[in-house]
Amino acid sequence: MVRVGIIKERRENERRVSLVPADIKKLVSKGIEVLVERGSGEGAYFLDGEYEEAGARVLNDAKEVLSNVDILIKVQPPSLEEAKALKEGAIYIGFTRYWENPEYLNVFSERGITAFALEKIPRTTKAQFVDVLSSQATIAGYKAVILAADLSPHLFPMLTTAAGTLKPAKVLVIGVGVAGLQALATAKRLGALTFAYDIRPAAKHDAQSVGAKFLESPVWAEGVGGYARELTEEERRIQHEFLAKHIGNSDVVITTAQVPGKRAPLIITKDMVEKMKPGSVIVDIAADNGGNCELTKPGEVVEYNGVKIAGPLNVPSSVPRPASEMFSKNMANFLELIIKDGQIKLDFGEEILEKSLLIKPGVKNE
Ligand code: NAD
Repeated sequence: MVRVGIIKERRENERRVSLVPADIKKLVSKGIEVLVERGSGEGAYFLDGEYEEAGARVLNDAKEVLSNVDILIKVQPPSLEEAKALKEGAIYIGFTRYWENPEYLNVFSERGITAFALEKIPRTTKAQFVDVLSSQATIAGYKAVILAADLSPHLFPMLTTAAGTLKPAKVLVIGVGVAGLQALATAKRLGALTFAYDIRPAAKHDAQSVGAKFLESPVWAEGVGGYARELTEEERRIQHEFLAKHIGNSDVVITTAQVPGKRAPLIITKDMVEKMKPGSVIVDIAADNGGNCELTKPGEVVEYNGVKIAGPLNVPSSVPRPASEMFSKNMANFLELIIKDGQIKLDFGEEILEKSLLIKPGVKNE
């Protein structure tokens, strides 16, 4: 019988859990045994009793889980200690932050562990059912708008009342990937006037499809795999000139821009913030990766010339319940790729497994 396990996420500010009871129930019904460390779901308000009812075995100690499972599913990369405790030859599925060359990857290699890095899942329509980058970015985009609405001294909708007419807030979203699109849709639903900016041509149509006005600059910079590429010095200068006036006209700016494998691009400079009206707000959800605004302080809200700049970290974890539900559904789907007829069968010719494979015995694929 294949044994799948989850343990409590111990990284600071991590409230998500990698499998929720509803998905475990389905796994158990397919003959998979699931081991859960006690308290794993607490941060997202999934109780041990719910895991037990779903058919999981709840164990007191992470080591008991780690030493007994064939497949470990995690949100955050494991600690060195956790990696050392994982059963030899087991499979790890989770975020890895492999580009930082963490030490635990050597331990994985030594212990013959096969690791799938969720950061490497292809960003295609076919891979959406396992794409945690997309599911978690959806949550982050939504929450960014809620944070912005809370920090802003304005209301988002236009209101016509006996006490007069209030203008709608102008919300500009910079970076229209998955998070940016959800931010635009959320701000629109709250009644804001929405504007979008990106350097990938496909983003224009995407932004328009959720009712935003796309700000079209002369800079287009599509990279590989659907991602953006880093801008050249000259392109950055043109972008800066183009964006400055639009940023100055916005009540709220939400930034989500990322370039794979690099620090998040610096798009909003101090002089641009100086052109914003007092009371304006920037929510920079690229803060985990350095931020898109020069004044962002990751994990803080700072105020400069009356402009509030928030750099929230690990935003999906701040909405842990749906973030865990979506993560868990993606992971239950991932398991279907590797467990066939109750047995682990790794077909490395399958595109998603091939692309997301980080380590297998004798092979490193960083
Ligand atoms: P991301 O987090 O890597 O980046 C967010 C956005 O920032 C992107 O739209 C990017 O173009 C933009 N950006 C980067 N540098 C910028 C700059 N200097 N100025 C302005 N904008 C900048 O993006 P993501 O949400 O992870 O999406 C990555 C790709 O994957 C996109 O092409 C997306 O459409 C694609 N995708 C496809 C599917 C699918 O079903 N086919 C699903 C999810 C994502």
